[in-house]
Amino acid sequence: MPLEIALFPALSDNFGYLVHDTASGRVAAIDAPDEAPIVAELEKRGWTLTDILITHHHADHTDAIAPLKRRFDAHVIGPREESGRISGLDTLVGGGDTVTLGETVFEVIDVPGHTLGHIAFFSPADKVLFSADALFSLGVGRMFEGDAEGMWKGLERLKTLPGETRIYCGHEYTLSNAKFALSVDPENAALKTRANEVQRQRDAGEPTIPATLSDELAANPFLRADTPELAQAMNLSGAPAWQVFGALRKAKDNF
Ligand SMILES: [Zn+2]
Repeated sequence: MPLEIALFPALSDNFGYLVHDTASGRVAAIDAPDEAPIVAELEKRGWTLTDILITHHHADHTDAIAPLKRRFDAHVIGPREESGRISGLDTLVGGGDTVTLGETVFEVIDVPGHTLGHIAFFSPADKVLFSADALFSLGVGRMFEGDAEGMWKGLERLKTLPGETRIYCGHEYTLSNAKFALSVDPENAALKTRANEVQRQRDAGEPTIPATLSDELAANPFLRADTPELAQAMNLSGAPAWQVFGALRKAKDNF
């Protein structure tokens, strides 16, 4: 069954998302950054919020849980591992669980590292991934919690999803991510093409989201930590991919 996705800006550079299961009429917000733009988008589309799917505990993804719950009596689903840090969760989930929204089924995938209990939501039927701050276009989230080995393991799982999967992430960071990516992977033709397209999209005031997984596999240096090119760029030829990944993450922190 088709899933309609509404994407809109929220806060300074967050993406707001509403997903509409057309079979049942159920509508979920993916994360709850800010009440006003979510309500405005619901009114514009004539949708009523029934569910909220939370990916991690940061305030710019959870601040609007309470007001949205009050307004719509929405059911809130979120990461079991972060239940102590998020108020208002009704159902707790973790990697391997499924979440249903009418006829739409999301698989829950553990993607620790940005936060330890961070989860992503993947619909195999629609080939759509909501990755929030675990995986951005041409980048990954800052590693606030956990370690490089665990974060790489979560990304390796995402790398196995179908190539045509559309990735909807938490922030519009693609242009600055492209600059770092080009600094470590300057000969990558797919990256150069994508960076030009991203510049054009931003100049036109368009979002750079969604990107497909196959595009990200070709151009996102963090997903390419297991290639000889990126190992060499980090002076880690022959090292395990998670070490190359960790070095890339550190280099981006200081970029
Ligand atoms: Zn975050």
